[in-house]
Order: sequence, then structure tokens, then C-alpha cells
Amino acid sequence: MKKTMLTLSVAGALMFSAVPAASAVGNGPGYGGNETINTSILTTYEEMADFLQKQDAKQAHMELEVIGQSVKGRDLYLAKYISDPANPTILFLTQQHGNEQLTTEGALEFIKHLGTSKTKNVLDNVNVLIVPMLNADGAMGDVNFSLDDYIAKGDRNLTRYNADGFDLNRDHVNRLQPETKALHENVLGKYDIDYMIDLHHQGAWSERDGELVSGSILYPTTPNVDPDVLLRSKQLGSVVFSAVDSTGWGHLGKYGGGNAETISRNGIAVEYGISTLLFEMRGMSDHYYEPYVLGQKSNGYLIKQTVTTLDAAVRSISDGSIEQADISFWDTLAEQNWRETE
Ligand SMILES: [Zn+2]
Repeated sequence: MKKTMLTLSVAGALMFSAVPAASAVGNGPGYGGNETINTSILTTYEEMADFLQKQDAKQAHMELEVIGQSVKGRDLYLAKYISDPANPTILFLTQQHGNEQLTTEGALEFIKHLGTSKTKNVLDNVNVLIVPMLNADGAMGDVNFSLDDYIAKGDRNLTRYNADGFDLNRDHVNRLQPETKALHENVLGKYDIDYMIDLHHQGAWSERDGELVSGSILYPTTPNVDPDVLLRSKQLGSVVFSAVDSTGWGHLGKYGGGNAETISRNGIAVEYGISTLLFEMRGMSDHYYEPYVLGQKSNGYLIKQTVTTLDAAVRSISDGSIEQADISFWDTLAEQNWRETE
């Protein structure tokens, strides 16, 4: 019953927002009068740190580690669940771009699930690493550049770039920024990781087959990736696609991404032999460009989409079913396109 209610309300929300708000331009962030862009309800960095420490104290099999500090000195966290080093290992990374926050909200909820009977015995056969909110300064709008033209109202603005204006997801070769350095030195280079999902948000008006997408996915596209790593990336994508698509409200497109190895999806697959999947959720928490942001009415299903994704990935690795995942859907999955919103 509860599930049916949720499905209905989510479907309603999707239908409601499927009409582009042509009148939004010039009227401020009203977005058709139906949605508000307000960041006050989002988890702050401090709340996240507090949450992680409390879960660490509560969950016997969880271990919390500080992997480094942001430009502004915020501790960057890794939540670890390592039951057996010989198990296959998956890494979830969120918020390399600080204005893409719902992925972190979903990851925190998933961490809570990992401490309950919901995932009983699943962790016996898979190791899970979670790095939430890698761009902590950008997430808190604590940056060395102006945020005057950012759209969101609330306690804070959130920005794609780190405090010094760098895009962390273009820094995976040179690692000039402390956040990317910490990720490579203390996570990627330290653990034997098999899979990774890099969680992001994209603009709000992408569609596939004429319907707005709830997100998009892509495997590594550099020609330098090992064929077996690519195969497993596509299998990971298959598991995620099936789980999200079968919810009834999830609708995914193929992301149109580039081949540069400065991007984690490509560079990490090549350098470490990790099978990577990019997941771009619909709409950002804040931006200076109006068609990129999405009102908080969509938060519920997008957070749920993250939890669904992480849960499906972990379960399929744990029971080995990922090895049989059918990758043929990739051949027919259409690349999303941008809906013209006037
Ligand atoms: Zn992003």
C-alpha cells in the first residue's frame, strides 16, 4: 500500500513537471509557479559530518575515515564496509560538483540502510566504499568567487566548482586540487576497487523518446579502456537501468559524454582498471543558468533514484548476478536530447 501511494505521487509529480515553464524567464525562480528553488532543506556539510560520525558509532561493520581536506580545510570522508578484502569492491562517489546535492542525500540514506536489517547478509560478499560530497566547499558555497547570479534562495548557494574555481571532474589526470588528490591517494590508489558509480546531476530538460528523463547513464568512452573493464561497466549500467526502469517512475537516457581522461568515468577506468558508470540525475540544486536547476518538489524521487541505484548495484555484485547482466539494451538506448524550453 505504502509503495503504491509513493508510486502514484511520484508519477503525479513527474507529469506535473513535464510541462516546461515557458513563463519562468523574467518571473524569477517560480518555475511555472509550482516549484521553489530553496536550498535550506538540504543537508549541510556539518550535518553530514555529524551524521557519518553517529552512524560510525552505531554500525559495527562501518568504518569512517578522513581521506584529506578541501581547499577550505573541511575533512573529506570515506565510509567503508569491508567484510573480506577478497570480496569484489564498489565505490560510490558523490558531489564532485558541489551543486549536485541529491546524490549525497541518497548516499546518506543508503548508509543508514546498511546499518539495518534491510541489507542483512548482503555485505558478506561485497565491500562498499562511499565518498560523499567530495566538493564540500562548493556544496556550502564557501568559495573564492562571486555567487551573486546564483538562482537558489535559502541558507546557502551551491556551486559546481571547488573553492578555487576548479572543476574537480576535469582534474583526474593532473590532480592539482586537494579534493581529487585525496580521492586518488587515499581511496583509488589504496583499495582494490572493481566497480565505481560516479553520481552527478544534469540539466532539468533532457528527454528520451519525447519524455523528460529522471537521469542518464554512460560507461567509459575513451578508446584506451580495457575491453573487459568496459564490459563490466556496461553490466553495471544494465543492473542500474533495470532497477530504475522497473520502478515505473524512472526513465533513463544515454548521456552524451566526451572521451577526455581528465573525467573520472574515463580516467579512472584506464588508470586503475575500475569499471565505471556515470549517473546523471535530473536537475541541479543551484546554478546561475535557469534551465539547469530543479525545484525541491522533485527531491523525493531523485533521492529514491539514488538509493535504488546503490542498492541494486550492491546486491547484484553480492549475489554475482551482475556477471550475467544483459548489456544488449545499450545498443538501443537512445541518447537523450535537450528539450527546447523557449
Ligand atoms: Zn556533475
